[in-house]
Amino acid sequence: MFILKGIDQLEKAIIKAKKTRTTVKFIKFGVYSVKGTKGNFYTVECRKVGNEKQVSCQCEGGRKNLVCFHAVSALSLHIGLARQRKTA
Ligand SMILES: [Zn+2]
Repeated sequence: MFILKGIDQLEKAIIKAKKTRTTVKFIKFGVYSVKGTKGNFYTVECRKVGNEKQVSCQCEGGRKNLVCFHAVSALSLHIGLARQRKTA
């Protein structure tokens, strides 16, 4: 799990996410299933705890608290949905 603080920390993972163009499945608001490079799916959870935005991914990198491209891919969908919710 990592705490989202800004776009800077996501930069490397964003580049990989753009190259990989993975599939993100919507499970429910805050929970997504993201396809890994080997065709397997990882569950990514995005949640807000107090003022902290926490993102966790089941993959090896995610378990080591690294920002992985699965998390970034899920986040781009999550942020879009969160915006829609606010304007709805
Ligand atoms: Zn991951």
